[in-house]
Amino acid sequence: MILDIKDLSVVYQTDMEVVHAVNSISLSMEQGETLGLVGETGAGKTTTALALMGLLPERTAKVTKGSIWFDGTDLLSLSERELQRVRGDKISMIFQDPMTALNPVLTVGDQIAEALLLHNVEGHSRKEIEARVEETLELVGIPKERKKDYPYQFSGGMRQRVVIAIALVCKPDLLIADEPTTALDVTIQAQILSMICDLQRKYKTSVIMITHDLGVVAETCDKVGIIYAGEVVEYGTLADIFEGDVHHPYTVGLFRSIPSLTGSARRLSPIEGLMPDPTALPEGCYFSPRCKQCMDICKKQKPKVYEKNGHQIRCHLYQQTGTAGEMEGSGGR
Ligand code: SF4
Repeated sequence: MILDIKDLSVVYQTDMEVVHAVNSISLSMEQGETLGLVGETGAGKTTTALALMGLLPERTAKVTKGSIWFDGTDLLSLSERELQRVRGDKISMIFQDPMTALNPVLTVGDQIAEALLLHNVEGHSRKEIEARVEETLELVGIPKERKKDYPYQFSGGMRQRVVIAIALVCKPDLLIADEPTTALDVTIQAQILSMICDLQRKYKTSVIMITHDLGVVAETCDKVGIIYAGEVVEYGTLADIFEGDVHHPYTVGLFRSIPSLTGSARRLSPIEGLMPDPTALPEGCYFSPRCKQCMDICKKQKPKVYEKNGHQIRCHLYQQTGTAGEMEGSGGR
């Protein structure tokens, strides 16, 4: 197992309030797998990734419990210096917006070389670094001659390729892609996703794909964690989530709120209401204020995780029956 996140909780603390961003999240993945983290904005996906990278804002964020085991080491026990060695070299991250992720006054070649120089444990010479920069540029579909160009000379899709080149130049074991195609138009999105998948296969890199888009998950992921209000409410293989016979009501709602290209025509039904205020989470199930199947117990008692063959669902519906009964309306996707 390359990554094992156990019972992780993160809060953001100010003088005025405590924001419960991540609440007892547990997730794991094997080498070479792609894990999709799906949820609305503010669900805790990016905070989980930042905790993994050791990039939480020091003054406001605090890991209140849990552990993050990566390749046999608890990342939360490492010093900043040790974490710097892990970042980029072993774990890399692709951020959402390629324009803000790149330095406008450095050529793209220098920015890729800089990432390599920071982790130059193999002691590469200047010539070798130059060759590696060119090789990485070509790998992401950019002619090596363009290494002397500046970010403003590239289109949005090409800039995101440069960001991916920077993330991949050290050949990390784990790549975190945080909404890597959100800022791009649809045709470029498909190219970038397929490129990430190709590179992952080539290097056997493990990938965490953070997204709110179930289409992206269907195209790229082996396992999926559905995140709601800082909790994993459902977790399983791609088949569990897309074809399984039982689902968390939030997952059902997510699927009903997107159009289906293959199924029969149906009216979209968005999930009514908003995610709860993370400074004042409700008692019991966090989804209860929006859940059409809410029962009395849901408002009083936090649901435990129901598990069948690795497919996990945090919902009282399953704990009550103790079996995986078919949920009303769980199909039709
Ligand atoms: Fe709905 Fe209750 Fe399940 Fe929460 S625990 S998702 S409120 S049925």
